[in-house]
Amino acid sequence: MQRVGFTTTIPLEVIVAAGKTPVDLNNFFIGGQHAPRFVEDAEMAGFPRNTCGWIKGIFTAVMESGIREMVAVTEGDCSYTKALMELLSLEGVTVIPFAYPHGRDRETLRFEIEKLMRHFSVEWESVYQAKERLDLIRHKVREIDRLTWEQNVVSGRENHYFQVATSDMNSAPDTFEAEVDAFLREARCRTPFKDELRLAYIGVPPIFDDLYTFLESQGGRVVFNETQRQFAMPYDLNDLVEQYRSYTYPYDIFHRLSDIIPEAGKRRVDGVIHYVQSFCFRQIEDLIIRRKLPFPILTLEGDKPTRLDARTKIRIEGFLEMLAERQGPETGNERS
Ligand code: SF4
Repeated sequence: MQRVGFTTTIPLEVIVAAGKTPVDLNNFFIGGQHAPRFVEDAEMAGFPRNTCGWIKGIFTAVMESGIREMVAVTEGDCSYTKALMELLSLEGVTVIPFAYPHGRDRETLRFEIEKLMRHFSVEWESVYQAKERLDLIRHKVREIDRLTWEQNVVSGRENHYFQVATSDMNSAPDTFEAEVDAFLREARCRTPFKDELRLAYIGVPPIFDDLYTFLESQGGRVVFNETQRQFAMPYDLNDLVEQYRSYTYPYDIFHRLSDIIPEAGKRRVDGVIHYVQSFCFRQIEDLIIRRKLPFPILTLEGDKPTRLDARTKIRIEGFLEMLAERQGPETGNERS
């Protein structure tokens, strides 16, 4: 089956309805064995050092994967995407633009989805059949999320992995569903985590590969992964246009906050990790998040796909110690 790459979550149903194999280029980059080299190769090809590591990784991912067709999200994601599109089209890749409308206008979004459908020659009927298939898997991944914060039997890293993978269903929905089923069977038999600090993770997924394990080694478990949960389409909506209108990631920060604040409250988080990527425009949103979120916040910045550096580890340790002190001994909920 022909593979179609994309730069961030798009209406996956259209790609699946067209009988193509979806490839989230972010997952291809960060999930492979050679993520640090991907960034270096892009720099060797001429990318400036002060360009986002994800963009550099996506460029090499396209070049190495042999993908010849991709959807690039030109509005609602990344200010670098247009230049990346131009560069890849010069390399002979067919690039289809897709835009999430500013202001979440329903008719404009419907028009964008139908434009994508026309390109892939699919009709609404087959798109809704694909949605039905994908929703079955999303429903199971939603259960993994519930087991994370309500039953406390899933780690923050596992929660991250399964939700982030829903953006392309690991390029093989049936295989991914079997993996989800096996995980659910195992997780339901686990003994719940105890004595941890409960954390929210907000922002783009981390480029660090050991963030969750380090947090857990220090007694902090992520029980809410904001963006990753959004990739899994958490609202269970029947209307496809409404599904991608409610999806918060590509829209303004206030729409994201309207999801973050109640979810973090419901999941009883003690503190928030806000991850920002070096050279990303979204760093500016940290100013708004700090004014609006009623939780202690630690902002972490990552650049390349490496392990956490010593300074970041020290900052995390200090933040978790502060949260543990706020809890006090009477809660019986000290760090393990
Ligand atoms: S982290 Fe920011 S700059 Fe990098 S790809 Fe994502 S939106 Fe673009």
